[in-house]
Amino acid sequence: MFRGILYLIVAVLFLSFLRSVIGILTKGFASAFQSPASAPQRPSVHAGGELKKDPVCGTFISTATAINKQVRGETYYFCSQTCRDKFKG
Ligand SMILES: [Zn+2]
Repeated sequence: MFRGILYLIVAVLFLSFLRSVIGILTKGFASAFQSPASAPQRPSVHAGGELKKDPVCGTFISTATAINKQVRGETYYFCSQTCRDKFKG
């Protein structure tokens, strides 16, 4: 009976100790990983795809991000939905 309570107290103390240790560790890791995370990231504009010319406004856009439309078996790429709507084959 008394032994059970003792075990419970030890377990609670151990868990709170473990929690504080984990907290210190994660805090340390967070500050350690903060500097590379704030480093400049690569621009995502040219992420994959190839450059195609928008037939409406003449802007070059990446096929990965462009809005495309298939007209008579040919695929056209547009910079925006407005350009796509203006294009009538
Ligand atoms: Zn356009």
